Amino acid sequence: MIKWEAHACLPLHPHADFGPIDRLHAAGVNYVSINIGMDMNPVSQVTAVIAGFRATIAAHPERYVLASTVQDIEQAAAAGKLAIGFDLEGAMPLLDQPEMVALYRALGVRQMHLAYNRNNSVAGGCHDVEQGLTPLGHKIVAAINAAGVLMDCSHTGRKCSLDIMAASTQPVIFSHSNPLALVQHGRNVTDEQIRACAATGGVICVSGVSIFLGTRTPDADDVARHSAYVANLVGVQHAGIGLDISFRQSELDDNPPGDYDPTYWWPKSAGYDRAISKSTYPPIESWTVLGDALRKTGMTADEAALVMGGNMMRVAGQVWGN
Ligand SMILES: [Zn+2]
Repeated sequence: MIKWEAHACLPLHPHADFGPIDRLHAAGVNYVSINIGMDMNPVSQVTAVIAGFRATIAAHPERYVLASTVQDIEQAAAAGKLAIGFDLEGAMPLLDQPEMVALYRALGVRQMHLAYNRNNSVAGGCHDVEQGLTPLGHKIVAAINAAGVLMDCSHTGRKCSLDIMAASTQPVIFSHSNPLALVQHGRNVTDEQIRACAATGGVICVSGVSIFLGTRTPDADDVARHSAYVANLVGVQHAGIGLDISFRQSELDDNPPGDYDPTYWWPKSAGYDRAISKSTYPPIESWTVLGDALRKTGMTADEAALVMGGNMMRVAGQVWGN
């Protein structure tokens, strides 16, 4: 049984310490998708981070595998190694060029969003005025489908996410999003979005972020409760896990270079006040008790295994190809 962590954040620095990733592995995770950039990060930073992370992975072949296929993940698990893929949160690093999708894919990116909270030339963000998928956005969805990359709608505006799910010829995921019916927050997703995702054959991976879970000290039971909501609404084969733990390392600068206004990307009007209350996350070791927490919601052991990784293995197998 593969355990799949659909989204984790190291500092966006080429020399970020992979220690927290090792702790995820020790807690039982077999595959983790690591963020390599968001819409606010310039391409110079994104490419430097990819190069640095690839070098760290290559320097420890006994520990890590940069996964291309689900077979790579199964082989890594059998050999006691952690499989890693990269994800890009927003289309701005694509520079309005659909062919950039295949380039990022060749560098290890296996999952892409089109917008990060705010609107851009391609898509609408969840904390901005409603904007659908633009004509360029349609070309980029086609490029993502053609390249064999997972189309991800977390951080995307509601209307735009529905446009993307209608346009995509492949299953679409939410890699770290929680049900709005349980917690009112603009980053959380409506039942309509969850149903549309399931209709593509995709998976809604719930996050462990405190404000999206509606608790100050999130734990495995909170994550399981949100997963169970998704499973009850659209079926257990469409629920997954993307805790979105942000592994800050104070000695490394995690901010984009140049002018950067965090209140633009995380608006106070949307409930973010990073000066007063920082997000908190479940402990990494929650992965060791998540199966039990899912069982407590009424799932069987087989159903819990689908949520913890089986569903994402199915979708990635379909989208990434061999
Ligand atoms: Zn995110």
